[in-house]
Amino acid sequence: MQTKEELIRQLRLLKEEAGSHSPSIFTIKEAIPELKVKVDACFLSNPYATDLFLEYFKRELLDTGGLRDLLEFYPSQNRVIAESLSSAIGIHPDNIFIGNGAIEIIQTVIQRYTKSKIVINIPTFSSYYEFINDDVEVVYNKLLKENNYELDIDAYIKLVKKERPDTVVLINPNNPNGGYMDSEKVHHLLRELRDVKNFILDESFIHFAYENEYYDLKTASNLVYKFPNLILVKSMSKDFGIAGIRAGYAVMNSRRVQELLLNGFLWNSNGLSEYFFRLYTRDEFLKEYEQVRVKYIKETQEFIKQLKQIPKIKVYPSMANFALIEILNGESSDDFVFNMLINHGIYLRTCSDKIGLNGEFVRLASRTKDENQYIIECFKKI
Ligand SMILES: *Cc1c(COP(=O)(O)O)cnc(C)c1O
Repeated sequence: MQTKEELIRQLRLLKEEAGSHSPSIFTIKEAIPELKVKVDACFLSNPYATDLFLEYFKRELLDTGGLRDLLEFYPSQNRVIAESLSSAIGIHPDNIFIGNGAIEIIQTVIQRYTKSKIVINIPTFSSYYEFINDDVEVVYNKLLKENNYELDIDAYIKLVKKERPDTVVLINPNNPNGGYMDSEKVHHLLRELRDVKNFILDESFIHFAYENEYYDLKTASNLVYKFPNLILVKSMSKDFGIAGIRAGYAVMNSRRVQELLLNGFLWNSNGLSEYFFRLYTRDEFLKEYEQVRVKYIKETQEFIKQLKQIPKIKVYPSMANFALIEILNGESSDDFVFNMLINHGIYLRTCSDKIGLNGEFVRLASRTKDENQYIIECFKKI
């Protein structure tokens, strides 16, 4: 049995090796087998949606032998998958670009269209600044702690008009804090910033946000017809719990889709992600998905409410499936994360590498109801 100090030293090393993303639970288990991980609250996915996908996967691919076809043959081309996705999201296929995960789209768009200057709100999802070409000027707009890291829309518009970047990036709800702008505000921003060449709006967590009592989904994808500068990025990894199959899409001006397709991306999907996208257009799946989406939102909001009552931490407002938490008991965020893992088997995301956060922060994902309950009990012991 290793001492706690040795375990912490190993964990620190793994974190350093992983750079700006956290080491996955598999990496940790492989490197330190004696660590007993009970709850992975680092990765941000809806576990009930993964269960649902697995039910279909088993029934339609495993039990029937249909999986063989997905492995043996080429998947459809980008354009064909876009056509099938079209009905599910109510967008013309000419305006849809399918990505091997949203990351591929982010990398492509930033490297291809961002030429001079980009405005990025921080804290943010690190890929947005890591993929930028060297000769591009980066302006960081610091979200303020006093504002709970929510965007001050008027100040933001003023800054963008002054800086005149060719690209702005907004993540709604934002990662890592879950701050949300309602659809009216998004529309207002698009109207005010129509002269910015590339308006990237990342809605990877939009399925967890809501504005009415029915938890209706509010996406800005339709606005692509009105604002040709809009590049809407959507990952399926978190809301559908399927990061392993790499599925994401963008909704954008048809000329841009056309240009990207002429420059590669022929078979950038795989059989499983194509299967998922086709599933996504089916009424029975959508009906069942809607149930697990709403169930998970309700449990998540209840979880956040309970967290807020725990002393010595501050929980920031979130409309996503996670909460940004400030540690106020004197521990550093890394130590807090290591202790939670070693003492309770709960894996959290340290935010020590996130630029734009002032203090000791961790990000905690909502999991199943039982796992959330366990997390609450352990947090109460700190
Ligand atoms: C996780 C994440 C992505 C990447 O999603 P993939 O589809 O898994 O590549 C993109 N944007 C944000 C804000 C994310 O949190």
